[in-house]
This record gives sequence, structure tokens and C-alpha cells, in this order.
Amino acid sequence: MKPAPFEYKAPATTDEAVDLLAEHGWDAKLLAGGQSLVPAMNFRLAQPAVLLDLNRIDELAYIRTVDSAEETGSTGSNVAEGDGGGGAVGLRIGAMTRQAALERSAAIAAHSPLLAAALPYIGHPQIRNRGTIGGSIAHADPAAELPAIVVALDAELTIRNSEGERRVAAAEFFQGLFSTALGPNDLLIEVDIPALPAGTGWSFQEVARRHGDYALVGVAATVRLAGDVCEAARMVFLSVGGGPVIASNAEASLVGQPLDERRIGEAARLAASEDIDPVNDIHASVAYRRHLAEVLARRALHEAGARARSGAGA
Ligand SMILES: Cc1cc2nc3c(=O)[nH]c(=O)nc-3n(C[C@H](O)[C@H](O)[C@H](O)COP(=O)(O)OP(=O)(O)OC[C@H]3O[C@@H](n4cnc5c(N)ncnc54)[C@H](O)[C@@H]3O)c2cc1C
Repeated sequence: MKPAPFEYKAPATTDEAVDLLAEHGWDAKLLAGGQSLVPAMNFRLAQPAVLLDLNRIDELAYIRTVDSAEETGSTGSNVAEGDGGGGAVGLRIGAMTRQAALERSAAIAAHSPLLAAALPYIGHPQIRNRGTIGGSIAHADPAAELPAIVVALDAELTIRNSEGERRVAAAEFFQGLFSTALGPNDLLIEVDIPALPAGTGWSFQEVARRHGDYALVGVAATVRLAGDVCEAARMVFLSVGGGPVIASNAEASLVGQPLDERRIGEAARLAASEDIDPVNDIHASVAYRRHLAEVLARRALHEAGARARSGAGA
């Protein structure tokens, strides 16, 4: 299939893109990596009158480190990889940064290993060469890895339109199936990922039928331990609801308790039975997805706990 006819515009700056969005609103679609939008256009599921190609906006492609005490490390180059100084290091990532650039980044590996662990699960290398972090988040596919990761890491998203900029917590950005806080004139420009607190372990687990397929179920988990006691826990699932699903009952069952076999088993059961809302589809039944969710939650909590204990987490 070929897409329906459209007008093509390629702004060179963020300001230009924002002005064009203000002019065209819902008639326009932003083209990032094109890995979801172009198939949708070819199937005529999307028929924008105007296509705004973001690929010439170099200023939206960067990875910057940020010292959480004093914001440093920002250099303006496309992939700037400072060490962010002495303190805990957060990351600022431009929306047009390719998934492959994140995968190759030493700064991501060092300062956001949970994000680094999830990246290879996104499709195939060819997809990640074009696909962007901003495109994946804006697209909000419930089976996508990056939306769950940014929620698990308490990231903040910066959105710009002709009125100005606003920051939205990732947990509030996703509003249902392929639905987000983005309005017709909004451009997602940056993803800010704070440093995980010291003593936090992490894990990413996923099952797909074949490597590169969308996940049947996936989960990102973090746990912070003080001795054996769990001080904070985060578990965010993908592919089991309308968007990233925070397993709040499971998380609450862990906090203040020793992270032992019994608590992990209970939390995994709670997550699978109460927190998620999977559907039957051609890929898997509800029962199978619940089974996978319980197994993956148990594995994730074990691994995150082991990393927290060994100091291999944050
Ligand atoms: C065969 C195949 C397998 C795949 N497997 C996976 C997988 O396993 N896991 C996974 O997560 N993804 C997978 N993908 C999707 C891939 O990750 C895409 O890269 C991603 O969904 C969209 O990113 P993009 O940069 O290509 O965005 P595009 O396709 O260009 O855009 C997607 C949507 O986001 C909007 N948008 C893009 N950028 C912005 C912005 N800055 N601000 C506001 N709106 C914006 C667009 O207008 C469009 O509506 C797969 C794709 C293919 C083709």
C-alpha cells in the first residue's frame, strides 16, 4: 500500500517545527523515525494532510549527563557524554535521539543501566537505527519498552508548543491505548531521567515469541534496600493494559518488608492477579499473560534485589 497524498515540510529548528504545528494542528503528523507512523500511513490508518519531518532538527538529538546536585554536563553537541561531575548523575535525552544511539551510549550504560537493558528488546537493529526515543514515547504502544522504562524511572517529559514549555511526569503522560498528554500543537522535545537513589537495584524482563517481536509481557522493576528491608519498590509492566501498568498493589506489599522469597512470591501474585489488565489476542490468552507476569515479576524482583545487595545497582 502507498500512503494517501500529503504535503511534506522539513523544519530545520525546533522553533520552526512548533510554528508549523501551531499552523496545522491535528492536520499535521510529526515524522520521527517513521517506524510506526510510516506503516500506519501505508495502511492508511493515518492520513495526515501535512507531514512535518523532524529529521533535520539536529538540536533535538543529544544525550547529556546532569549532576543531580548542580546541573552540569550539557554541551549542546549531538551526543555529549560527560561524566556529570561527582554526584548522582541523571540524563537528558533529546526526543530525536535514535534508539541505536542510546544503545551504544557509554553514558546510558553507566547512568541508566535499566534503560540500557531494555533497548535491545526493541524490534531489530534496523528499527533502532531509525526509531527515536521521542517517537516511541509519543506513539505510546502498550507493548513498547520505552514507555514502561520512563515510567519506572520516574522520568519527566518536556513538551513545547507555541505557548511555551511544560514538564509532565511520565506516569501522567500515558493516558490509555495510544493516548498521551500531547495535544495537537505539542512537540515532545526532551526526556529527563533522574539518577536512581543509591542502594537501588533494577531488572528488566520480557518474553516475546521470537527475538525482536513485541513483548507478550514485560516488566521493569527497581527496589531500594536498607539492609534486607525494602524501602521503595517500582514495578511497571508492558503489554498487559492500555499503556505502561504500574503494579501499585504489588509495590505496596513490598515496602517496609524484608525482600525475601515469601514477599517476592506474594508481590508477584498480586501483580499478576490484581494490578494488570491483560486482554486475549492472537498472540496470547489472558491466563497465559497472567502466568508470564507472575513469573517475570518474581525474576525481576530477585534480580533487582540481588543487584541492590551487591551494590551493582545505583
Ligand atoms: C517490525 C517492527 C518491529 C518493532 N518492534 C518494536 C518492539 O519490539 N518494541 C517497541 O517498543 N517498538 C517496536 N517497533 C516500533 C519502533 O520502536 C518505533 O521506533 C517507535 O514505535 C516509534 O518511533 P519512531 O521514532 O519511529 O516514531 P514515528 O513512527 O516517526 O512516530 C510515531 C508517532 O509519534 C509521533 N511523534 C514522533 N516524534 C514525536 C515528537 N517528538 N513529539 C510528538 N509526537 C511525536 C508521530 O507523529 C507518530 O504519531 C517496531 C517497529 C517495526 C516496524
